[in-house]
Amino acid sequence: MPKQSGNKSNGARHSAASWLQQGPPARSKRAYNRSLVCAALFHEGPRSRIDLQHATGLPLSRLSDICGGLLDEGVIRESMVTPAIGGGRGRPRSLLELDLRHLGVACVRYDQDQVTTALVDLAGAVHWKRRWNAAEAEDAATRLRSITRSLQQTIAVAPEVGLSLVGVGAADPGTVDVATGRSIRAVNVPGWSDMPVVEALNEATGLAAVIERGDGWQALGEVAYGAGRGAQHVLFVTLLEGIGGGIVEGGRLLSGRDGSAGEIGHTRVSVDGPRCGCGGRGCLEAHLAPSRLAALWRGASSSELDSIAPRGETAGDDFAQMLAAAHQGESRARDVLSQAARALAIALGNAISLLNPERVILGGRFVEAGDSLVAMLREALPQCALPELASNVVVRLAELGEDSAFLGIAARVRSRLFAYPSMGGTVVNPPRMKRKSG
Ligand SMILES: [Zn+2]
Repeated sequence: MPKQSGNKSNGARHSAASWLQQGPPARSKRAYNRSLVCAALFHEGPRSRIDLQHATGLPLSRLSDICGGLLDEGVIRESMVTPAIGGGRGRPRSLLELDLRHLGVACVRYDQDQVTTALVDLAGAVHWKRRWNAAEAEDAATRLRSITRSLQQTIAVAPEVGLSLVGVGAADPGTVDVATGRSIRAVNVPGWSDMPVVEALNEATGLAAVIERGDGWQALGEVAYGAGRGAQHVLFVTLLEGIGGGIVEGGRLLSGRDGSAGEIGHTRVSVDGPRCGCGGRGCLEAHLAPSRLAALWRGASSSELDSIAPRGETAGDDFAQMLAAAHQGESRARDVLSQAARALAIALGNAISLLNPERVILGGRFVEAGDSLVAMLREALPQCALPELASNVVVRLAELGEDSAFLGIAARVRSRLFAYPSMGGTVVNPPRMKRKSG
């Protein structure tokens, strides 16, 4: 594992990071109290020492001691705030807040052709990113080894960009079992089945590792740092060649038995519609495949359309050209976009009636389709969902682009790190305290 030492200015931060990574063996009263202070600042926002004392129940002297240590390590920072009341003449107050800019995660996203790694801080900024070509004809075990090697080389860069790493995460192209940390199956990556990704990442880096399917990370990233900020009930839907998604409730991604809850692509929007890569007909993904929409615009015959497999085929510039034509008001392109919006409205309408989200976020190539798609969708939605639910849903385009998956990893590491210690946060209950069951 690459060492992160050798940079004096980061020494203090490294000690902070090593404290933050402490698990059950290192539990102590002091570590517990430090976790408690950080959790209070994370969940309740910037606080004065007095407010923090009320929130944590710690004596002021002990609290000051703990805050002093956290300030030295750069985990929290202090700012002076003048009260808004009294025309700015009030006494300035000192507020403490978490400083997440120097704590980071190393992330990896992979598919059949490429591996991309990134260093992201917990405040939501991407500091460094690199794309690596996956070697051809690798077996799955070799592929996993090259993924961990890329991640190790990425981790070695962290001190240069001023980051103390507190976790690593993988965005998997298939379905995953979050509990065991294994990738169950990725249809587009030959041999990639039942892969012990978390174990391999953890062994190779020495850092706590997390895994999720890529679309799930994107949903979490948008909710924590992008178009879903402040929303508690979010449905995220993304279009590439296929359609994926995620459901985030109170900051948590819904999993389902096989980790695929929120994968809206194979919900049916017509009984005998276009053939889908899954073998069915009329799936949302089949209706909205960019290659199919581009072919529709070009005037392809119905037999040609039926031969287009939604997966594994890229529409390339055809789809972008169709969108450009629609934006310029060309009637056939607008008809195609309108048909797509209608199919999307049916699927979203069912999801809205079922889940009652407050916000729907459209990512991937939906963002290219832009505001005209959102406008068509808003028009069609009231006929496809319970009207009172549809009218209260805010539809937004995603904001984070392809970095959203990395930011989702940062979001989960952040919320685990700063969970209240009594709720199973990073530093668990001290031995004498009663453990929660389960
Ligand atoms: Zn399907």
